[in-house]
Amino acid sequence: MKKTYRIACIPGDGIGKEVVPAGQAVLEALAAVSSFQFAFENFGWGGDWFRAHGEMMPKDGLDALRNKDAILFGSAGDPDIPDHITLWGLRLKICQGFDQYANVRPTRILPGIDAPLKRCTPQQLDWVIVRENSEGEYSGVGGRAHQGHPIEVATDVSMMTRAGVERIMRYAFKLAQSRPRKLLTVVTKSNAQRHAMVMWDEIALQVSQEFPDVTWDKELVDACTARMVNRPATLDTLVATNLHADILSDLAAALAGSLGIAPTGNIDPERRYPSMFEPIHGSAFDIMGKGLANPVGTFWSCVMLLEHLGENAAAQQLMQAIEQITADVSLHTRDLGGTATTTQVTQAVCERIATTA
Ligand code: ATP
Ligand code: MG
Repeated sequence: MKKTYRIACIPGDGIGKEVVPAGQAVLEALAAVSSFQFAFENFGWGGDWFRAHGEMMPKDGLDALRNKDAILFGSAGDPDIPDHITLWGLRLKICQGFDQYANVRPTRILPGIDAPLKRCTPQQLDWVIVRENSEGEYSGVGGRAHQGHPIEVATDVSMMTRAGVERIMRYAFKLAQSRPRKLLTVVTKSNAQRHAMVMWDEIALQVSQEFPDVTWDKELVDACTARMVNRPATLDTLVATNLHADILSDLAAALAGSLGIAPTGNIDPERRYPSMFEPIHGSAFDIMGKGLANPVGTFWSCVMLLEHLGENAAAQQLMQAIEQITADVSLHTRDLGGTATTTQVTQAVCERIATTA
């Protein structure tokens, strides 16, 4: 009897509906040659659900996910629904409901990808950005008063707690320690944000004492963007606040060649709840339904999902299949300058998995 992993699939909106089934297909192809299998359950939440029910997911939706081993997510975003509703009503609801406080975003230049950083070899650009995913600038604290009047005020409070900063800092140091270079850059803005970011710096120093074998430095977020372009090889693991890491990881994805290939995991390191894996791109309605969506970001997210389940051999096998197809320019989708379709790339990855087993 094969071990069964229960996976919730939430395609969401736009090209999420194309890339999540593609991800399921490659996971099925892996299961066919492995000692485990998947029991997928699909949830049709998102913009269509909102139009029918007035909410992005059911009130008891989290309960339906609670007993899953992991969640594969597509994208939430719809041109007819305000962004703060699609985001807070689905993705952030899951991230916060399951306290997925570490958002982990690897970046590498895959073989065959024409990345903008020509001075840098793929071996030199190998980053993981750890994004604080539960508080900070996106804590939702704030409000508006005197709406529409000249004296209107609006605030978004960047709320940071000692416990919240300590746990993400410890996660980042541990991750840096597990990587060959044992190198961590703590991204900050404590020169201008003189309360929460100063505490962030203090906690970095404090947690660093627990990891004497990790080499670490501090970098201001603005300087960090320049360093990513000018001296990419000096970076390895980075940890940053919710907003800062959000921006840095889009830059990272673009530097690695395309938004369409970048993966992420929203992780509950304590494993009290399921963790959620997704491509970093959004719903991309401009290319929806045309077979143009690059599924590689979702496939790479599946690699992270498999690692999280402890299926490291299968994860490696999938990563190798991904690298083989990116190395083949005839299998590039349009965002990478090619003409291959979502289905062709998915089939090619499934075939590689079947033949290398
Ligand atoms: P959202 O509002 O949900 O963030 P968006 O319309 O802003 O969605 P993004 O996903 O953020 O779209 O991406 C911006 C652009 O990058 C898209 O309009 C699309 O052209 C391109 N893009 C994003 N993801 C992919 C992908 N997987 N494959 C190909 N092109 C992509
Ligand atoms: Mg977007």
